[in-house]
Amino acid sequence: MTVIYLDNNATTKVDPEVVRAMLPFLTEFYGNPSSMHTFGGQVGKAVKTARSQVAQLLGAEDSEIVFTSCGTEGNNTAIRAAIAAQPDRKHIITTAVEHPAVLNVYKQLEKQGYTVTYLSVDGKGQLDLMELEASLTGNTALVSTMYANNETGVVFPVERVGQLAKEYGAAFHVDAVQVAGKLPLDMKTSTIDLLTISGHKLHAPKGIGALYVRRGFRFRPFLLGGHQERGRRAGTENVPGIVALGKAAELESLHMKEAIARERQLRDRLEQSLLKAIPDCEVNGDRKQRLPNTTNIGFKYIEGEAILLSLNQYGICASSGSACTSGSLEPSHVLRAMGLPYTILHGSIRFSLSRYTTEAEVDRVLAVMPGIVERLRALSPFNSDASDWLQGREEAVLATR
Ligand SMILES: *Cc1c(COP(=O)(O)O)cnc(C)c1O
Repeated sequence: MTVIYLDNNATTKVDPEVVRAMLPFLTEFYGNPSSMHTFGGQVGKAVKTARSQVAQLLGAEDSEIVFTSCGTEGNNTAIRAAIAAQPDRKHIITTAVEHPAVLNVYKQLEKQGYTVTYLSVDGKGQLDLMELEASLTGNTALVSTMYANNETGVVFPVERVGQLAKEYGAAFHVDAVQVAGKLPLDMKTSTIDLLTISGHKLHAPKGIGALYVRRGFRFRPFLLGGHQERGRRAGTENVPGIVALGKAAELESLHMKEAIARERQLRDRLEQSLLKAIPDCEVNGDRKQRLPNTTNIGFKYIEGEAILLSLNQYGICASSGSACTSGSLEPSHVLRAMGLPYTILHGSIRFSLSRYTTEAEVDRVLAVMPGIVERLRALSPFNSDASDWLQGREEAVLATR
C-alpha cells in the first residue's frame, strides 16, 4: 500500500537532492574538518558552504550559525545560554503551548530556583500581548516563545513579543523549528537573539539542527570539549548532516514562495471540503495567522486516536497532538490551553502537508474521511443523541481546570 504522508510537522521526507549532496561525505570525504591536511580541509570547506546556505535561509551572517544535533539541543542550549548571560535575573517568560523540548527545560529550572511565567493563549491559540507586558519585569532574564505551533500551526507575533522583551532588557529566544523553510525569516531586521531550527522538519535527515546566535550576544556553550563551531558547540561535526542541512536550506529558499502558495491551496481545499462533508467538526486555532501547511480539526463525539487508526488502514498518516506526547492518551496540552470543549479535545487530528503532497492524495483523504467519521460515530456512546450526558461531562472537566 502506498503511503499518503500528511504528518510533516512530525518529520519530513529527505529530499533526494539532499541525499545526493550528503552521500560523498559518508563515503569518500570522511576527513575531520578540523584536521591540518588537505583531505580534512576539503571537508571543512563543505561545512563552510553549508553554514552560508543556512545563514541565507535565516537572513543571518555565517558566523551567527551554530550547528547542533537537533531542535531539542538548540532549545536547551539557547535557554541555558540566555539565563547564564544575566545570572542575577531569575525570571523566565514562555507560553503554555510550547514543545516539550522547551517546557521540560523550564520544569527543571523551576526546581533550581527560577520563576517561570507560562503565558496563556485564547480560544484561537493566540497570545495576549497585554499579559506578556504585565509579566515582564527587570528580573526577567529570558522571553522564549515558539514561532509557530506544531499542533495547530498558529503563528505568534514574535517581533512584537521581541520588542517588549527588549524594553526590559530580556534575551529573546524563538523556537522556529516549524517555521524554518515554511515562511520567510530575516534575522537582520529581527529582535530575535537566539533561534532554533531542526533539519528533519525541512527535508534534511534527523539528528542535525542549527542555532542562530545574534552577533554580540553573550553566548555560553552547552556542550564543552573541543573548539569546534568556534568554541560554541564542542564535538566533531556531523558533516554529512551539516551538508544535508545546508542543501535543504538552499532548496527551501529556492522553493519557498511556490511551496507556500501550493500547500495553502491544497490545505484549504482539504479543510473546507472536510468541514462541508462532515457535520459537527471545526478547525482548531487561528485560521488567518497560521502556517500554510497545517490544519487541526476537531471531530466531535469520537476519539482522535480512533480516526488515526482508521486512516492508517488506508495508508494515510496524520497525527493527534504532537508525536512526542502521543501514546499517553492525555489530550493535547496545546488544545487544553485553548480551553476547547471536551469532545474537541479528544476528537482532534492534525494534517500537515509538504511540497510533496499532491492533489490526488488530498482527494483520497476526502474520499475516506466522511465514512470513517460516520462509522466511528455510529459506535460512539458520545454521539449527539447523548448530548445531555456530554454537557454534564464537559462541565465537570471545566470545573477541574
Ligand atoms: C520537532 C520540534 C522540536 C524538536 O526538534 P528535534 O529536532 O526533533 O529535537 C522542537 N520544537 C518544535 C516546535 C518542533 O516541532
